[in-house]
Amino acid sequence: MNPKRIRAFKHGKPGDGPVVYWMSRDQRVKDNWALLFARAIAQEANVPVIVIFCLTEGFLGAGRRHYEFMLKGLQELEEALSREKIPFVFLRGNPEQKIPEFVTEYEVGALVTDFDPLRVKAEWVEKIIPEIEIPFFEVDAHNVVPCWEASPKQEYAAHTFRPKFYGHLSEFLEEFPELEPNFESIEIPSGYSIGDILSGTQETGIKSLLPEEISDKNKDPLFEPGHFKPGEKAARKVMESFLAERLDSYNTLRNDPTKNALSSLSPYLHFGQISAQRVVLEVEKAKSNPESKKAFLDEILVWKEIADNFCYYNPGYDSFESFPDWAKKSLNAHRDDRRTYIYTLEEFSAGKTHDPLWNASQMELLRTGKMHSYMRMYWAKKILEWSESPEKALEIAIFLNDRYELDGRDPNGYAGISWSIGGVHDRAWREREVIGKIRYMSYEGCKRKFDVDAYIARYPVERAPEKQLASFFRNSTF
Ligand SMILES: Cc1cc2nc3c(=O)[nH]c(=O)nc-3n(C[C@H](O)[C@H](O)[C@H](O)COP(=O)(O)OP(=O)(O)OC[C@H]3O[C@@H](n4cnc5c(N)ncnc54)[C@H](O)[C@@H]3O)c2cc1C
Repeated sequence: MNPKRIRAFKHGKPGDGPVVYWMSRDQRVKDNWALLFARAIAQEANVPVIVIFCLTEGFLGAGRRHYEFMLKGLQELEEALSREKIPFVFLRGNPEQKIPEFVTEYEVGALVTDFDPLRVKAEWVEKIIPEIEIPFFEVDAHNVVPCWEASPKQEYAAHTFRPKFYGHLSEFLEEFPELEPNFESIEIPSGYSIGDILSGTQETGIKSLLPEEISDKNKDPLFEPGHFKPGEKAARKVMESFLAERLDSYNTLRNDPTKNALSSLSPYLHFGQISAQRVVLEVEKAKSNPESKKAFLDEILVWKEIADNFCYYNPGYDSFESFPDWAKKSLNAHRDDRRTYIYTLEEFSAGKTHDPLWNASQMELLRTGKMHSYMRMYWAKKILEWSESPEKALEIAIFLNDRYELDGRDPNGYAGISWSIGGVHDRAWREREVIGKIRYMSYEGCKRKFDVDAYIARYPVERAPEKQLASFFRNSTF
């Protein structure tokens, strides 16, 4: 493993007990650099490795759909780890408190965690460092090129990031070694059972993790969970079907939301149920259309990893302040422009705008948990046009994205929304009312690209949930 993938938060004095991998962003056994590193240092110290997951309540606006997807994935992971004689300890509560408690109780030898550029993880880490005396490492197990290696600063655009990124790629794009099992089984009591939380028998299950206004099962009435089966095995199958059936036409069909041409890997990549590096290695080997391979690799490498770069070097990634100066200036100049339509969060959420294409995209999101990538750009840009201010638009788009996209609460989401609404990683375009110099997208433009009516017909607006959604938004902080 390239040692540049690892950084020490703290050198400390090793304890006598096991090495712990505190897993959070990369929830998988296979192809996981953080687990491989933890296993390697455990082997060197002749101690076992343990994996800990710490379940927190109300994580970044996640809903029942996210907790179910993640917990089912973790159930499969627990079984897979037990085959390697690696105990999986499932804790509930704040990591900043639970992790140091565990370290002390089990005289942990060293602590390893996976890299995450979002503020919440950085805040946990900051609080854990002074509470422990042992070595504490972070491993970038999510990016192919570790975020801090790809570039030492926030990149302005994909074209400034791309050459730096590709300059490092061959150094890091290597095959993963096999994970060595622990040499003997050890018993660590896990206070909580994932199965009991999923079935609702333990401390009232998932309900207890959610804010009250969405804790009820019927508060997400349109969601059809069958679109994405959770877990590492399912992720692998989705990748294989993409390689065999969809990669070839990715280049020509990916901007058509009526076609099934995308990889559909984002929920799995978000929860770390598959490694982006594995996907890249397999795509490189595939005998497929070279133009499609190139286009796909640009998305999963450059666009995905520049999103981590944006959030890591710009901790205000979800605010107006994170927009480039030209965009802020231009949006400020158009604050007082008359908006033809202004919708509330409740109206956006229920798909009650005047635009059937926008409403259909919102229905796709509510129903499947994943809006097509082309529609995401249109969706966010229209929220900017139909909100009272850019700040309000950003707030609404992030709220809906994080609450309903299975892949939400991800750097890709904050970067994608800021690209659409605030010109991040984009450039100035012809100036217009309301949106200033932000790139414009229109219904007519969509009509020229794909069969808009077919898309609208596929996702009719369901009025049934309106009542539930309304009661939810009355109780929300908006
Ligand atoms: C307004 C808006 C919101 C978005 N919200 C999210 C989000 O919450 N989570 C998320 O993972 N992606 C988000 N994206 C990026 C992109 O739309 C999704 O990654 C893509 O739709 C996922 O579907 P897929 O895996 O089938 O895509 P594919 O086209 O098959 O792409 C494969 C992978 O490449 C990466 N990728 C593709 N397009 C982008 C992109 N534009 N930016 C960054 N990475 C990309 C993703 O990791 C994706 O899974 C958002 C984009 C926009 C414009």
